[in-house]
Amino acid sequence: MKTYELLINGGWGAGSGKPFPTINPYDEKIWADIPSADGSDVDAAVNAAYEAFESTWRRTSGLRRAELMFRLADLIDRDAQQLAEIETIDNGKVIRETRTQMHFCARNYRFFGGCADKLTGETKPLDNYAMLDYTTREPLGVAALITAWNSPLALLANKLAPALAAGNTVVIKPSEYTSASTLEFGRLIEEAGFPRGVVNIVTGAGETGHALVTHPLVAKISFTGSVATGSKIAEAAAKSIVPVTLELGGKSANIIFADADLKRAVPGAVAGIFAAAGQTCIAGSRLLVHESLYSDVLQAVAERARAVRLGDPLDPATEMGPVAHRAQLESITADIARAREDGAEVITGGAASTGNGSGLFLDPTVVGGVRNDMSLSQKEVFGPVLAVLPFSDDEQAAAIANDSPYGLAAGIWTNDLTRAHLVAKELRCGTVWINTYRSSAAQAPFGGVKKSGYGRERGTEALLDYTRVKNVMIDLSNEVRDPFTLKT
Ligand code: NAD
Repeated sequence: MKTYELLINGGWGAGSGKPFPTINPYDEKIWADIPSADGSDVDAAVNAAYEAFESTWRRTSGLRRAELMFRLADLIDRDAQQLAEIETIDNGKVIRETRTQMHFCARNYRFFGGCADKLTGETKPLDNYAMLDYTTREPLGVAALITAWNSPLALLANKLAPALAAGNTVVIKPSEYTSASTLEFGRLIEEAGFPRGVVNIVTGAGETGHALVTHPLVAKISFTGSVATGSKIAEAAAKSIVPVTLELGGKSANIIFADADLKRAVPGAVAGIFAAAGQTCIAGSRLLVHESLYSDVLQAVAERARAVRLGDPLDPATEMGPVAHRAQLESITADIARAREDGAEVITGGAASTGNGSGLFLDPTVVGGVRNDMSLSQKEVFGPVLAVLPFSDDEQAAAIANDSPYGLAAGIWTNDLTRAHLVAKELRCGTVWINTYRSSAAQAPFGGVKKSGYGRERGTEALLDYTRVKNVMIDLSNEVRDPFTLKT
């Protein structure tokens, strides 16, 4: 049994609340104790971040910030296996995925480290020759970074890397289900040599998060999680007038057109939903298939789903691990039951499997005969459940894809260049993949529209979200002005 501590102002300590257990979903055993931060711990963390911002970090050169971030990236690469194993033990995601995610994290710190000394303003050509005007990009201050349980360190990298690069200090709160990897990561922050107080980590459940987002010294909030919590956070941000980035849920459409190369499209559909047991915001959980291919694709996807290797997520051969926790499994099985009641047909899966481990395994599930107005098409299941729907033409495919409260991502499988770009233009979502799915890059901005949220992570767009613009105007003339006339 391991016991973790909070990171506040460069020191490690127990939280003021009662520690809580964290569970390995593969065997449902408690493997570590996580500290619980109450309002006083959150206050100490935010004050430490504020002090570090005012005294040190906002005056630290971009070059120095970059050096520390590059060092951090090297340390993540060095410890990738260990960090990946902790995440796999905590949330059941297969090691082949978490391992790759660690290198992706390191890539993010390198990308944003490279931006740290390139944050420039502009000079503005004013109408008056004697006036000089320029802008600067300034950091916002203390950023509150709150993450979900499905990919703690990857979601954190999307927030922490641009926040630090732009000169902000932070207080991080990971999910209460998967806090261990973020606390381990705190050791790397220390080893990389960041000044104390620049990065603070508090753990706990919703109350800890609430204390953080309502703290008066917080100047920016970035949140990844559910729509329900995102809405509460937006409300808190509105009250204190701070900018917020919301990365919320999805119900993304993966669309296979009649001319698609099925040798690529079928694995693409499988990757879209069964990788990470469907517990990913970008899951391609609605598979839209042209009616001419519908039965063939449905059968091909079901066949591959039946062959998915379930098992110990720490085994590199395992393709799908357990669902992350019991409440999540219950919610997924209720969604499948509702789909059956609504008249959909479960082609394969639909039931709990042993997966040689705990009772938290669910067989990869493919559901046919689905209409887009059914609950299975409209609600985010966040599990290995694929709804397969037919369409008749391009216009209808885009209309079905867009008929959703969400707008995170979409996939298009076609070899027709014109069709690919025309459909991409019609889709109301933040990311469109063409002949690929679930591909990410540090340079490519990511985020949603509608209930999937607002703001962008990754790419230079994310960096700007952690800055504000200041305008500086200088009168170069020696004129004595008339105090009652507006100067332009
Ligand atoms: P959640 O909303 O239950 O919890 C997310 C985080 O918010 C946790 O750290 C939690 O402790 C904290 N929290 C809860 N109540 C709070 C409050 N009142 N104030 C402040 N913080 C509070 O979400 P979850 O179940 O952990 O994650 C699953 C959801 O996350 C899914 O909807 C999924 O689609 C979404 N997600 C989105 C993305 C994306 O990038 N768009 C990525 C991953 C997951």
